[in-house]
Amino acid sequence: MSTQLQSRRLRQPIVVVLGHVDHGKTTLLDKIRGTAVVKKEPGEMTQEVGASFVPTSVIEKIAEPLKKIFPIKLEIPGLLFIDTPGHELFSNLRKRGGSVADIAILVVDIVEGFQKQTYESLEILRSRKVPFLVAANKIDRIPGWKTADTYSFLESFKAQRKDVQTQLDNYVYRLVGQLAELGFNSDRFDRIKDFTKTVAIVPVSAKTGEGIAELLALLAGLTQNYMKSKLRFAEGPAKGVILEVKELQGLGYTIDVIIYDGVLKKNDTIVLGGLNGPIVTKVRSILVPKPLQDIKVVKTDLTQIDEVYAAAGVKIYAPDLENALAGSPLFAAESEQQIEEYKKIIQEEISSVKYYNANIAGIVIKADSLGSLEAIVEGLKQKNIPIRLADIGPITKRDITEAELTLQESKEYAIIAAFRVKPLQGIEVPNKVKLIYSDIIYQLIDEIEKYINEIRESEKRRTLDSLVLPGKFRIIPGYVFRRSDPAIVGVEVLGGIIRPKFPVMKKDGKRVGEILQIQDNKKSVDRATKGMEVAVSIKGNIMVGRQIDEGDILYTDVPKEDLEILVTKYKDIITDDMKEVIKEIINIKRSENPTYGLGLQL
Ligand code: GDP
Repeated sequence: MSTQLQSRRLRQPIVVVLGHVDHGKTTLLDKIRGTAVVKKEPGEMTQEVGASFVPTSVIEKIAEPLKKIFPIKLEIPGLLFIDTPGHELFSNLRKRGGSVADIAILVVDIVEGFQKQTYESLEILRSRKVPFLVAANKIDRIPGWKTADTYSFLESFKAQRKDVQTQLDNYVYRLVGQLAELGFNSDRFDRIKDFTKTVAIVPVSAKTGEGIAELLALLAGLTQNYMKSKLRFAEGPAKGVILEVKELQGLGYTIDVIIYDGVLKKNDTIVLGGLNGPIVTKVRSILVPKPLQDIKVVKTDLTQIDEVYAAAGVKIYAPDLENALAGSPLFAAESEQQIEEYKKIIQEEISSVKYYNANIAGIVIKADSLGSLEAIVEGLKQKNIPIRLADIGPITKRDITEAELTLQESKEYAIIAAFRVKPLQGIEVPNKVKLIYSDIIYQLIDEIEKYINEIRESEKRRTLDSLVLPGKFRIIPGYVFRRSDPAIVGVEVLGGIIRPKFPVMKKDGKRVGEILQIQDNKKSVDRATKGMEVAVSIKGNIMVGRQIDEGDILYTDVPKEDLEILVTKYKDIITDDMKEVIKEIINIKRSENPTYGLGLQL
């Protein structure tokens, strides 16, 4: 076995699947895995943890009818698919400034097109610099599509009716347009001349298998052609990344690791990230599922192996793994000096993701892994949401203290965002600090955003409620219900808004009193706006016929500071008619106070 492995020049590329919920990620992975199991020769499949290997022989068999279009002579040994699709696991496949994944399949429902998580997936692929191709999935759902018994899209496509072909292409063009808006050149894979400049769109059906041939051929061909140097296999000690930390009944803590370079051997010394800093330990066992005998993919029973070559997914059992950190790098070290070097690299890497700034009134984030913490921090930064503390582990007393400190400055950021972690036992988060849990990165970010907006809205309402706003109204002749104490008159609002408690002035700036109540059709209302005719009671030292008269025009007496707050902070509520009223009020008030409304941009 090892001579075969030693002669191997390239390792298998690592493939991830991302995309919007329900667009078919799981079904596609199942189809690829299932196809591989059916098409393999005995002994061809290696067994992996957290990943599935599709050997080159299988790819060649499936892609056989395509030889004319893809003259593929594959040198890579196959493709390694990460089993769990989606952002959450992908974020843990991190490598400094990038990803352990060599290429991604972005699954898009061809009929639905781009959806929220499609955009998010693209964003995360872009930020981790992972090349991708688009699987335009569910082609069997295009009206009129006749499923053909083939893995090849092109073969099946040829057999479709003309109008069905046109419809498929229309859907593909829509994807091309959506990708173009995001700055990506793309096209249907068989029309592409230069794959380094154009994203390939492969129409597939994860349900029927049509298009799987082209998808596999392209994944293999593209990675082999354009990533050779990255895929060149190193004989040295292993490098990997921790996908998950799991407690195994009767064994203890284990880590699921993707080895992306080198060889890992039993008894190797490994350095990896932990909750409290780097961990140095010795590999007791390397575990993989027992070889499969039949098609049913149930990976339960584990078996030990002595060594494993990149790329591979394995479970490692070693002492001191209970604090191991998912998303952290893992290195096998051959000397004391290497151990120290790797400890330093890992420490730096952890520090680059964790964050604390006591001067920022921002939110507190706690996550269970380095990758998810990094993805959440990135997501929040994009939305300009300030962060005070970003750390790994359960919620502690300190986190609450930090959130309370934020609360003193800005209520909307007094949040503890918890991704797959809970408060330590005995710790209770007080009500005034908002605790937001989620197991889905983008849901967590959405909920944080929603809460911030809610608090802002309610603060805004509260401030707005305390302001005297600009309003202009006319006493309708013939509608004086009471002459004084309070005066009650029918009015027409000419612009802006009037509300109870607003002081009222005349055109010459003289204060005449304060609005007591407003009635619309005999019902008390808390506001009246342009065009409304309402009854208004005004208290003050006034009498209709003396200080004011029927037909008079009155204004709300807006204090200088209130107008400034309105114009600088709440411009969005200023309607056109209110704007006119503001100008008139400024004119009135200027005669008394030359700085009134000065410098305000209406
Ligand atoms: P995920 O959330 O992206 O993993 O989506 P799933 O793989 O769970 O698929 C969501 C639904 O779409 C399931 O009911 C699948 O059976 C269905 N589905 C997935 N791929 C296809 C396809 O190619 N054709 C059809 N007709 N249905 C599909």
